[in-house]
Amino acid sequence: MSVVNAKEIMVEAVKGKYAVGAFNVTDLVQFEAVVQAAIDKKAPVIVQTSVKPSKFYGRHVMVAIYRALAESAPVPVCLHLDHCTEIDYCKQCADAGYTNIMVDASKQPFEENVRQTKEVADYCHSVGNISVEGELGTVSGVEDQVKVAEDESALANPKQAVEFVERTGIDIFAPAIGTAHGVYKTKNPKVDFERLDTINKLLNGKTIKTPVVVHGGTGLPEDYVKRLLESGGAKFNVSTELKYTLIDTTFNYITAKREEYDPGKIDAAVSDAIRKVVGHWIDMLGSTGKA
Ligand SMILES: [Zn+2]
Repeated sequence: MSVVNAKEIMVEAVKGKYAVGAFNVTDLVQFEAVVQAAIDKKAPVIVQTSVKPSKFYGRHVMVAIYRALAESAPVPVCLHLDHCTEIDYCKQCADAGYTNIMVDASKQPFEENVRQTKEVADYCHSVGNISVEGELGTVSGVEDQVKVAEDESALANPKQAVEFVERTGIDIFAPAIGTAHGVYKTKNPKVDFERLDTINKLLNGKTIKTPVVVHGGTGLPEDYVKRLLESGGAKFNVSTELKYTLIDTTFNYITAKREEYDPGKIDAAVSDAIRKVVGHWIDMLGSTGKA
């Protein structure tokens, strides 16, 4: 029961008033570290790969790593494909064994976003126990191949959000609410908590139908995270912080031990650092001990 889709663990999170951490990885060391952190914290977890690392290793390799780690883990683990703009690749990853697929047609006009998102949702639901995430409005910043300038970003309209969810049949929903990918350029990013609250109540007020996702976790002040949790955020995506941790830890290790040629020690240092970052997020999201 360790291989799960995102919706099932998010529904539990909404009921328990906590959120599931969703962490982007680019290689095996980070993948293993994220799962280990979740095991240490007894927390459900979502491991995410963007399209680029998924294609670099190949989706079947990513899924093989996922299954090997998740099947022996005593906590639920989901494998999520992040921000995929290619319908065909969404379907191929569903076939390969990813358990949550995010189709990102948010840069398309509304009707086209609905059409593409529904196509992926219908396909994934026909393939197996796979949940699908769609996005409305655009999250600013850069996430893999998806680039959105801050002035381009449009926040999700609550009424349109309900229509979007109903027409596409998605399982979890990412509304643009002012959080951003990458690193925040200001100490007080403009995040529309009320908008998230309104959307969440419309979607999950009576029964939990479509839990909501917060993108752009990296660098969010802790009090923002708390307010977003209270407003219904049930999955928090953290990507940039793990990339920085990987690169900074590797750089610092090699700089300090320039004469040493032992890759395993670099991996161990990276793994320790990633586990710390992920563990901190799991604590902040309140999911410690929930698995
Ligand atoms: Zn994102």
